Amino acid sequence: MRSAQCSRCLKKFQEKEIYTIQQFQYRKEPTYNWSLAFFEECEIGEWDSFCETCIIIHANESAKAWKKIKV
Ligand SMILES: [Zn+2]
Repeated sequence: MRSAQCSRCLKKFQEKEIYTIQQFQYRKEPTYNWSLAFFEECEIGEWDSFCETCIIIHANESAKAWKKIKV
């Protein structure tokens, strides 16, 4: 079994458990284009791998930032 490493917490995990910010395409809000720009500023690309915990953290951070600009 190949293993991958999370770009954020550097934890190693199995390759089939990789998450990337590409999964945010399926969120209704924020829009994917906005998400991409947001993560680009954090130097996170579409091909960076994350563990489940870290992708949830990124999801929450971006949702919070999105709410702020909508107010
Ligand atoms: Zn992680």
